[in-house]
Amino acid sequence: MIQQQLKNIQSLIEQAKQTPAHQVEIIAVTKQLSVEQTRIVLDAGLQHLGENRPQGFLPKVEAFGHEPVWHFIGSLQTRKVRDVIDHIDFLHSLDRMSLAQEIQKRATKPVKCFIQVNVSGEDSKHGLAVKDVRDFIEQVKPMDKMELVGLMTMAPLEASREEIKQQFHQLRLLRDELRENLGPEFKELSMGMSGDYELAVEEGATFIRIGTALVGSLKE
Ligand SMILES: *Cc1c(COP(=O)(O)O)cnc(C)c1O
Repeated sequence: MIQQQLKNIQSLIEQAKQTPAHQVEIIAVTKQLSVEQTRIVLDAGLQHLGENRPQGFLPKVEAFGHEPVWHFIGSLQTRKVRDVIDHIDFLHSLDRMSLAQEIQKRATKPVKCFIQVNVSGEDSKHGLAVKDVRDFIEQVKPMDKMELVGLMTMAPLEASREEIKQQFHQLRLLRDELRENLGPEFKELSMGMSGDYELAVEEGATFIRIGTALVGSLKE
């Protein structure tokens, strides 16, 4: 079942890609799955796994170690940093100075980070306002425990396809602009979930985070 879902998603990605060289990595979001169900996802050949809470993430780290590439995609409470930070390969939710300072203090090795941006400006969403991203980067740049790799966003649930596409486009333009200053390593765009990943790929996503459409059928 999951193999079939994966095939469908891969073929839609191929159609949405801008050029043959455009690489899109699928993160299987396993936050709703047990350790046993997550084993099935790994055995299907998916190497990038996404988790959004420490209490779901840590038992899986215990079970699978560094067999998967671990993406922490949920908002991270400052007081939880110590428990999880050294197990994370990619943090998608760096969005405030207090979090950056805590990571700098607790991490024993650099972690690849996406800065989470609230493109829509909606109050309820986590992430930095677009206008604050540049200053934030200036403050984080000297800190050696965070390697800034790109930008992440989540589209609001109620937005239209057109609005979502526009927001993904805006994130891409911001990435392009920041890359001129940060260098070619600042190249990633984490955007797109089950309902909107095709739009995200059309707009240049390099990581898409897919739960329901890929692994939803494994939930009991
Ligand atoms: C749950 C989650 C996803 C995946 O959502 P689906 O709609 O199930 O694909 C992606 N990104 C984040 C940050 C999430 O919390």
